[in-house]
Amino acid sequence: MSPMIDLLRLSRALHLTAEPLDTNGWMVSGGARSHLVRDGVCDCADAVYGRGECKHLLAIRLAVLDADVRGALQMMIPATGTRAVHR
Ligand SMILES: [Zn+2]
Repeated sequence: MSPMIDLLRLSRALHLTAEPLDTNGWMVSGGARSHLVRDGVCDCADAVYGRGECKHLLAIRLAVLDADVRGALQMMIPATGTRAVHR
């Protein structure tokens, strides 16, 4: 069985930007600060203190999705802290 993904983290990850730096490095931005992920290891507090798969690693997993699929998910799941208005 694959490990459970924290859905709140996943929804936050969806609105981050993950850009590949080279073959084993990513820069993840769009949160309070940017984080470097190298060889699958992130430098954020969640990763350093072993609090499960952080949103930056999830953002990288989302970044390799088809852009149309990712765009549809972003519309479906609003960024945390914003309120969708449907009137
Ligand atoms: Zn992280």
